[in-house]
Amino acid sequence: MNAVDALDPSRPQSAGGLARNRLPARIERCVGRRRGTRPGPTLLVVGAIHGNEPAGVLAAIRLLERLEADGVELRGELVCLAGNLRALRLGRRYVDRDLNRLWTEASLAALPARLAGDPDAEDHEQAELRDAIEHALREARGPVYALDLHTTSAAGFAFALYGDTLRQRSFAKHFPLPAILGLEEQVDGVLVEWLGRLGATTLCIEAGQHDDPVSVDNLVACLTVALAAAGLVEPERLPGHAAALAHLEAGRGGLPRVMEVLHRHPVSPSDGFVMEPGFANIARVRAGQLLARTRDGEIRAPRDGLLFLPLYQAQGSDGFFLGREVGRWRLRASKWLRRAGLDRTLPWLPGVRRTGRGDALALSPRAARIYPQELFTTFGYRRRRERPGHIELSRRPAG
Ligand SMILES: [Zn+2]
Repeated sequence: MNAVDALDPSRPQSAGGLARNRLPARIERCVGRRRGTRPGPTLLVVGAIHGNEPAGVLAAIRLLERLEADGVELRGELVCLAGNLRALRLGRRYVDRDLNRLWTEASLAALPARLAGDPDAEDHEQAELRDAIEHALREARGPVYALDLHTTSAAGFAFALYGDTLRQRSFAKHFPLPAILGLEEQVDGVLVEWLGRLGATTLCIEAGQHDDPVSVDNLVACLTVALAAAGLVEPERLPGHAAALAHLEAGRGGLPRVMEVLHRHPVSPSDGFVMEPGFANIARVRAGQLLARTRDGEIRAPRDGLLFLPLYQAQGSDGFFLGREVGRWRLRASKWLRRAGLDRTLPWLPGVRRTGRGDALALSPRAARIYPQELFTTFGYRRRRERPGHIELSRRPAG
């Protein structure tokens, strides 16, 4: 039994425990789809782009079964895809390369040549997944929303992350999950970045630990909320919708609704980095609190705030992230400022100029030191990359 079902008395409690969380013997790229007779939005769901994270596929299967059993009529279409099938069969994150780092324009442009040469497992996966997504987009009869479903090795809170545009914020607002802004921007080539370039409104969900049945429950709840949030069905016509909201709200454990990353602590193997034990994936920290030790000494929190994703495994280049809550007034203020188009004045600042790319700014090293980070994050510029001679700040296209 799971919490969502338990809160919904109309639902028969049949298959329980582990059996319901076992993958079927054969999984296709398209896990399932449900196309309404009436036109409307498309909700695209991708699970297991990391093959050791089957929870997203399991949640999609459970959702599709429920919709069928309850005879729910949708507007538009729900399309559920499996991300990395070859890795999923092996129960590994990936076979040759991380499929969730390959969606840059350069890497997509290089794909045909790789396929014609000596392709690896992820070249095939990427081509097949790209084709399935492009097919779904061609068939779409309205706006496209995409959910990318993940789980983590460590236990902790389920949370959402998304590129900071107003359109994405207003979609994410429907989910009573803690959301972390500025985390998606820490890595390049993630699937949602490409989907965003194609015009989709996206949301990534980290639902809990890989093999915890609660992670699947969390994802079923997210998918249920997403169907209504994207406008495929009215909430009152969707059995389990209120229970799904209650389930996610209960799992939030008093954490703020919106948080932001302000600092990444990078680590390399030679640092001898050891995280202090006992931090959850999202944790409140006090100024001066001991966070980690390295060969060079102790690392303490510079101020009160939030710590995200502490590194407790041997491999990885992110030691932890530090950030803070984004209060309601600050969200509102940044919305007004963006609507007023004040971001157009940023390149007027000394040391700041536009780059050739649409949603990117180049800052001189001095400007990057002097101007407060907030000046740029207010307008969604959260991706920061060192380039020769300048710092590049970029954001998702506003759409
Ligand atoms: Zn993942």
